[in-house]
Amino acid sequence: MEASVVLRSSNKLLLFPRYYSPRNFFRLFSSSSKSPRSLSSSFTPRNLHRPINPLTSCSLLRRRSGFLPLSATSSSSSSFHFNKHHFSSLSPHAIATQYSPDVSSVPDEVAAKYGFEKVSEEFIGECKSKAVLFKHKQTGAEVMSVSNDDENKVFGIVFRTPPNDSTGIPHILEHSVLCGSRKYPLKEPFVELLKGSLHTFLNAFTYPDRTCYPVASTNTKDFYNLVDVYLDAVFFPKCVEDYRTFQQEGWHFELNNPSEEISYKGVVFNEMKGVYSQPDNILGRTAQQALFPDNTYGVDSGGDPKVIPELTFEQFKDFHSKYYHPGNARIWFYGDDDPTERLRILSEYLDMFDASSAPKESKIERQTLFSEPVRIVEKYPADKPLDLETELILGFLDHLMLGTPASPLRKILLESGLGDAIVGGGVEDELLQPQFSIGLKGVSEEDIQKVEELVMSTLKKLAEEGFEADAVEASMNTIEFSLRENNTGSFPRGLSLMLRSISKWIYDMDPFEPLKYEKPLMALKARTAEEGSKAVFSPVIEKFILNNPHRVTIEMQPDPEKASRDEAAERESLEKVKARMTEEDLAELARATQELRLKQETPDPPEALRSVPSLSLLDIPKEPILVPIEVGDINGVKVLKHELFTNDVLYAEIVFNMRSLKQELLPLVPLFCQSLLEMGTEDLTFVQLNQLIGRKTGGISVYPFTSSVRGREDPCSHIIARGKAMAGRVEDLFNLVNCVLQEVQFTDQQRFKQFVSQSKARMENRLRGSGHGIAAARMDAKLNVAGWISEQMGGVSYLEFLQALEERVDQDWAGVSSSLEEIRTSLLSKNGCLINMTADGKNLTNSEKYVSKFLDLLPSSKSSVEAAAWNARLSPGNEAIVIPTQVNYVGKAANIYDTGYQLNGSAYVISKHISNTWLWDRVRVSGGAYGGFCDFDTHSGVFSFLSYRDPNLLKTLDVYDGTGAFLRELEMDHDTLSKAIIGTIGDVDSYQLPDAKGYSSLLRYLLGITEEERKKRREEILSTSLKDFKEFGEVIQAVKDKGVSVAVASPEDVDAANKDRSNYFNVKRAL
Ligand SMILES: [Zn+2]
Repeated sequence: MEASVVLRSSNKLLLFPRYYSPRNFFRLFSSSSKSPRSLSSSFTPRNLHRPINPLTSCSLLRRRSGFLPLSATSSSSSSFHFNKHHFSSLSPHAIATQYSPDVSSVPDEVAAKYGFEKVSEEFIGECKSKAVLFKHKQTGAEVMSVSNDDENKVFGIVFRTPPNDSTGIPHILEHSVLCGSRKYPLKEPFVELLKGSLHTFLNAFTYPDRTCYPVASTNTKDFYNLVDVYLDAVFFPKCVEDYRTFQQEGWHFELNNPSEEISYKGVVFNEMKGVYSQPDNILGRTAQQALFPDNTYGVDSGGDPKVIPELTFEQFKDFHSKYYHPGNARIWFYGDDDPTERLRILSEYLDMFDASSAPKESKIERQTLFSEPVRIVEKYPADKPLDLETELILGFLDHLMLGTPASPLRKILLESGLGDAIVGGGVEDELLQPQFSIGLKGVSEEDIQKVEELVMSTLKKLAEEGFEADAVEASMNTIEFSLRENNTGSFPRGLSLMLRSISKWIYDMDPFEPLKYEKPLMALKARTAEEGSKAVFSPVIEKFILNNPHRVTIEMQPDPEKASRDEAAERESLEKVKARMTEEDLAELARATQELRLKQETPDPPEALRSVPSLSLLDIPKEPILVPIEVGDINGVKVLKHELFTNDVLYAEIVFNMRSLKQELLPLVPLFCQSLLEMGTEDLTFVQLNQLIGRKTGGISVYPFTSSVRGREDPCSHIIARGKAMAGRVEDLFNLVNCVLQEVQFTDQQRFKQFVSQSKARMENRLRGSGHGIAAARMDAKLNVAGWISEQMGGVSYLEFLQALEERVDQDWAGVSSSLEEIRTSLLSKNGCLINMTADGKNLTNSEKYVSKFLDLLPSSKSSVEAAAWNARLSPGNEAIVIPTQVNYVGKAANIYDTGYQLNGSAYVISKHISNTWLWDRVRVSGGAYGGFCDFDTHSGVFSFLSYRDPNLLKTLDVYDGTGAFLRELEMDHDTLSKAIIGTIGDVDSYQLPDAKGYSSLLRYLLGITEEERKKRREEILSTSLKDFKEFGEVIQAVKDKGVSVAVASPEDVDAANKDRSNYFNVKRAL
């Protein structure tokens, strides 16, 4: 019996703002569903709140590079794992460009001409930006216009949308407004933009109290196209007149034939069913609703699947007309474009509106604070807002207590043996009233009380004794490093600033303030130096956590029957609905179902499609983005150098060949990597080692990387140690990497056991939340060796390995420990080593002597690296992984190189087109799944189809099987083809910060992708023709005819499928 306990308290005011956390919003489409194995580009090795184990997920990295070998990168994805890393989150320091911006400004009379008045303006040193706050006189709309030299331009419009029930109105509306508008009267302009623009960011989010529509692009013309489509969508959407959009995105009854059963369908409905199948999500929501029973945070803006069907079209329309008004909007522009043009574009829209009462009605009410933990509610006087310094202290405190494996609260909880993994996100500060939450999962029933006591006693102890000086220094350095670096990965910097500014602005506070931190930071450092850290942190722990009566304690108990019970309850209510209907009603419903499907499946007329503005092929650069690379040699070891401006940071990767490792040791590699960073040496405890890393560097991580190599049977398989440091700390960086690799001892049995149970808990989470990734890995493991390796380190096989390992650690620790040592011995050698560095020229040259010293310390190997015999694949055959869930993940894949197909750049255009048209329409729009997509790993040749939070199973497989025919019969005009090509180039040229460029170049080097090949592929992409699509239709037939299917699905659906198609799936139970 397992349970989770979480303690939460809400303190009265905002903490230092940072990125939103995923718990607090729903987005229009999941980037993880678009590229299932994409990996966060964020480089935060010690990030408590990462949803996926960085160690195991990195082994899946190859897939991302598989999809885009032209820019082979982990960083190009639009992935969102930015949830709360404490440090980069605090931070928008300098835009890392070399030149200070030459900022143009808008004269007052020009602003007035467009209907705006300037409210205030400031130069914000922290982000080298000039920021001007305008007000639109007629409507009261507020605009932040931020100018600097960042080419990655960002626009966003945010409405305050507090719901008062859990029907999911804001979320359904967020989906629906992007389904056609006045100027763009097609089914889904959003999808047209996904297909045919150079966007670096395109999505929409629903928070508990606001809805946010951001876009980004580096191409100015493209950027303004995106802005116009979004503005038209939010102010003049078709969905408020067209009931069928509401049905499609929200909910509707589906009845194909009067004799069949009625079911619920709808994109948001299914998305939320998936959300409600994940225990961690349930926990987060329960806690939020318990803390805020009386205000808007007490209901679910995303929608509770049980309540969504209560929503009517009238309520939906009213919500739009009430809240989607300029007076209730906050608008953000950021980047190097002309600030006058921004106002001109906005005035075209805003001038059409008058003032409204929306801003008053949308005001977020505060939850009255509890006077005692949980039950009694009393009036409580509101405090004055916190000053920035207090907010900053809370940010630091969060990092100090929970930010790294060495942080005391985190460490004590995990070492207590009371549970497997930490739950609760620490400080959550994006809503009006921030919260602090912490807890454990996998707690046995009799220990629940103990967890609560341990949390409180640890906090009390920290308040009484304070933190170690080294720990404080490490947190300070870590946070400052990320302030200077401001590495937002593939997430546009301007968007991270916007989200921070909005977190106050949305509550009518100063939008500039969250962008500035320099002064409070300096003041805090000075105060800490003067008074000591205890004087700074202890009062805050006492006031905001220990003595805070507004606290709830939540226990969650697993209920294996719950999913089935919910299913049954839903079926029962649908049966009642059907029983109440007359024959005519049923015939009418079947007709309406048919009509909706017909509408969904009818392509937009060409003139509607043409209304969406697009670039032309002439706007597209002919050459691939070049990353400088110099291949040299130090002490006989290959060294790649990328000379790029990095604001004085050196990024380094030290790569070791894993090919000599014995096959049976492979599943142990992720835990080996974790042990290196979290075990300690003879001289240093792991806490000290972590503090040293925090004090001297910007972070170190170690993880495996595996991929197929095109044209080769043998996979490319490495372990990569990645680190970064300021130029003056490069020697420390290499010393610490050496210490981690060579000196760490694998002797701490208890810690290792914790790693195993934490990994197990994470894998179980992945199985529920990212079943598509699990299915994809499983199919790959059946099709090639690289896939097999990755599955051993991050799939169902890995979970099974961990289950067995848990016992082995108790019974044969000596054996486990010596296996870890064996991995190290076979890895660490000069022969199998490669170094990759990214920095400016001077810093690259300066670093060489430290590299040389580092290499001298490596064991020189006996001979050349001898490849071990790896010849493993999972047995072929269709497979269903059965888990308790209400939604499925369905995959099918085959190796198309086996058919004799030769890689051509057109394949990128075609697979993107299949995802955005055929699969989007059939699997998502009419199938009701949250996502459907395909992925072509050009290294291995595996072409796979996948769905995400899918109500169907066999029906989805039929859609996949229809892809060949879809392509063969495809007709498309010149415009559509150009858009498909431009969209593909947008992926290939995705925006990268310098560290990501250097890293991509390394991966290309490892995978043998040359500049000539990149050029050739780009030419092939640009010259893709309809003929290529049709020919590919023949190639892809192999997936239908010879493909293997893997589904992660509910027992009911698997049973039904196996009855329907005589035992199509081999059944495997996983949870
Ligand atoms: Zn959604």
